Amino acid sequence: MTKKRNNPETIAIHGGDYRSDPATNAVAVPIYRTTSYQFNNTEHAANLFALKEFGNIYTRIMNPTNDVLEKRVAALEGGLSCVTVSSGQTASTFAVLNVAQAGDNIVSSTDLYGGTVSLFTHTLSKLGIEIRYADPSNPENFEKLIDDKTRAFYGETLPNPYLRVFPIKEVSDIGRKYNIPLIMDNTAAPVICRPIDHGAAVVIHSLTKYIGGHGTAVAGSIVDSGNFDWTADPKRQPLFNEPDESYGGVVWGKAVPELTGANVPFAVRARVCLLRDLGSALAPDNAFAIIQGLETVALRMRQHCANAEYVVNFLKKHKEVTKVIYSTEHDKPIANRAKKYLRGGNGPMIGIELKGGIEAGKKFIESLKMFYHVANIGDARSLAIHPASTTHSQLNEKELAASGVTQSYVRLCIGIEHIDDIIEDLDQALNKSSKGNLKAVS
Ligand code: PLP
Repeated sequence: MTKKRNNPETIAIHGGDYRSDPATNAVAVPIYRTTSYQFNNTEHAANLFALKEFGNIYTRIMNPTNDVLEKRVAALEGGLSCVTVSSGQTASTFAVLNVAQAGDNIVSSTDLYGGTVSLFTHTLSKLGIEIRYADPSNPENFEKLIDDKTRAFYGETLPNPYLRVFPIKEVSDIGRKYNIPLIMDNTAAPVICRPIDHGAAVVIHSLTKYIGGHGTAVAGSIVDSGNFDWTADPKRQPLFNEPDESYGGVVWGKAVPELTGANVPFAVRARVCLLRDLGSALAPDNAFAIIQGLETVALRMRQHCANAEYVVNFLKKHKEVTKVIYSTEHDKPIANRAKKYLRGGNGPMIGIELKGGIEAGKKFIESLKMFYHVANIGDARSLAIHPASTTHSQLNEKELAASGVTQSYVRLCIGIEHIDDIIEDLDQALNKSSKGNLKAVS
């Protein structure tokens, strides 16, 4: 494309430099189902391994199908470079392992996906990386937890169950005073929020969710904004300023801008060190499935959010509902963050608490006819789940309370079906929720 277009609807279809397949002129992005790539000669092979030249080496590290997806996701988020990985969990893991090693710490928001909490609290802590939790209702809580070993801040744009929008600029500004990058998980808010525009250094996604959009493939991405100076404070970011013995003593923070002309050492290190060592590559077949979803993400997000807004107004008036949790349904300072950070919609997810408590919640879920009862979010279909007995069931009481999951909380992910059908299904299930007992949900 000659003109650089910056609208998400267009980026999602045309973003990056792919126009058609160079070998066949195919317009749809081909699935390059290959593990390896023939080198032109020994010098070419050596140059690729030494990063003197960029090109395909091995599909654990890069693949042409994934490359198209990476360029589009980077452009959608307003970043410079992207690495796709096998899942959203891998994206979170890599984002932390790319800045922190044993003895270091990350200051993370308490408002997190349950799987991220268990990754942080259990697996990463066993590797010697401490995660310190800050309540994002006051951004200064992040500053209080910083010490010399703090390598990054971590937050989620629109975390469920609280559905409080994260104070991206406020926390990013604090971090930048100390040369600490902000890593944002933007899984629940593609298109309606671009954390990089508000100062985030790195944006990750579970592409499994709204970007994939159809519940057909598990995938993750890590976008390097190019806006963070990894060399400004060498003691703060040793992994980008000390020679890396695993790569011939390269200093990533200096070498990558010199080699590529772009300030993307975070993305390059994640690819050539973490994908090299840990694997977790995205299969090109799954990259293809995500590319199909990505093409319509802007349309879908608009419809998800419009439907959700309608549902919020319906639920607020329903006699069986005691509380509606939504990005705009908080006290003013928190609700104002939705206005500040979200564009074109206030999010696709809603939480509810029912008059009849936990039993009513379970009965409500079992009475839904069109909504699916699944652990996923971000499907075109409407979804519902009871987090305390499922997605958050591995958290202890303290972790549950910190994450905002009450025993009676039900999470709704509003799909893109016709609004009349969504309301009809919710209404009939709510009306059954207080009548008699059904067997407990899983
Ligand atoms: N981040 C968020 C906000 C999520 O909701 C999820 C999954 O639900 C993940 C990360 C993990 O993604 P995946 O299931 O693709 O590993």
